[in-house]
Amino acid sequence: MQVLVLGAGVVGVTSAWYLAKAGHEVTVIDRQVDVALETSYGNAGQISPGYSAPWAGPGIPLKAIKWLMQDLAPFMINGKEVDPQTLSWMTKMVSNCTQGAYHKNKARMMRLAEYSRDCFIDLRKELDIHYDERQKGTLQVFRTDKQVEASKKDISVLEECGVNFQELDQQGCIEYEPALANVKDKIVGGLRLPGDETGDCFKFTNALADECKEMGVQFVMKTDILSINKEGDEITSVSTSRGKLTADAYLVALGSYSTPMMSEIGLKIPVYPIKGYSLTLPIIDENKAPTSTVMDETYKVAVTRFDDRIRVGGTAEIASYNKDLNEKRRANVEFVVGDLFPGGGDIEKAEFWTGLRPMTPDGTPILGETKYSNLFLNTGHGTLGWTMSLGSGKYVADVISGQKTDIDPEGLSMARYH
Ligand SMILES: Cc1cc2nc3c(=O)[nH]c(=O)nc-3n(C[C@H](O)[C@H](O)[C@H](O)COP(=O)(O)OP(=O)(O)OC[C@H]3O[C@@H](n4cnc5c(N)ncnc54)[C@H](O)[C@@H]3O)c2cc1C
Repeated sequence: MQVLVLGAGVVGVTSAWYLAKAGHEVTVIDRQVDVALETSYGNAGQISPGYSAPWAGPGIPLKAIKWLMQDLAPFMINGKEVDPQTLSWMTKMVSNCTQGAYHKNKARMMRLAEYSRDCFIDLRKELDIHYDERQKGTLQVFRTDKQVEASKKDISVLEECGVNFQELDQQGCIEYEPALANVKDKIVGGLRLPGDETGDCFKFTNALADECKEMGVQFVMKTDILSINKEGDEITSVSTSRGKLTADAYLVALGSYSTPMMSEIGLKIPVYPIKGYSLTLPIIDENKAPTSTVMDETYKVAVTRFDDRIRVGGTAEIASYNKDLNEKRRANVEFVVGDLFPGGGDIEKAEFWTGLRPMTPDGTPILGETKYSNLFLNTGHGTLGWTMSLGSGKYVADVISGQKTDIDPEGLSMARYH
């Protein structure tokens, strides 16, 4: 079967990989000059099934109001960019802030993310693929006893889902992240997820794209997708800046831009761009740098070790599709890396970046079939799209191929919104 994959971020490329392995003739289209140049470029570098959780949770609306008034807040709203789509998405997100919804959504995300992490393990066995990868777990650090207490809720879900974890005191955190000894008075404890992994998503996507090319996948870059054309319940072609392209099946992996593209053909998907920021610093002193990912619960910022760089990323901004680099938001990520790992990296040489997380209000991506017989979705991966990318790609390739999927499809498709 000929399959057109729309979008060459990490989600499009992982899908192309599994589709090619299933024997399909695959073409990937993207507007950028190369793969992973939008949201998949500068993320925080975690493959973190253990940390998979929706942002919509009990108490979040109140916390969000407090954050709006806080310095170095993890969350902000850019009032100028709030439009009806923003309000509708926020309303849906708030309706997911109940204990019951949080529990259900977290379990769905973790099921997919755990499956995806296993796909990463299998992929490394199959391919000699490198992306500054490390398998040293991740550590969430708490600055207050209240945060330690609040983490008990997450621990009960980890237990239910059978995810390994370690509750650590201050000394325990330092054993895993020795550089924290320099700032030990700032932390009271932590939660470690030993099964989590780290690496550079941009390098990963590029390396996998090279493997895809070896398998015969065609990449059509510098090509704008203008519209998806339909007749009855079938997609007939895709109009692009290079003319019309046709295939037997079409897979949408356009990240945050999936929403406007789908609405043109009458598919309402609640995927909204939640802006985040990162800095990437060259390491100047290994002893003062992290060894894996350290997540600062207070500022919701993750600091990740690459081979010779530190990536620090996080914060959430509601600003629709605006991609301006807001210097005020830089202060947040810059503060955390300097506060937890002073002297580890060269802030003067840091690369500042912003990206739009394609977020659903319930945190789970939208995968698989649509009302069009030959149109499929792989979008809405939000905060942990790299984590879920291989699992989602494999799942969607199985659906397109008419194969039995390896994981329970409950709650993963568009059907959950009907
Ligand atoms: C600050 C930050 C930190 C993050 N940290 C992590 C983390 O630690 N771990 C993790 O797992 N995830 C993380 N994420 C989330 C993760 O990066 C995303 O979920 C993931 O990159 C989404 O991949 P994607 O392929 O769906 O989207 P994208 O990478 O955005 O790919 C979509 C592609 O579609 C193309 N496209 C869009 N519209 C068109 C069009 N009209 N024509 C042609 N091409 C088009 C774009 O060029 C782009 O290449 C983070 C995100 C941010 C912003």
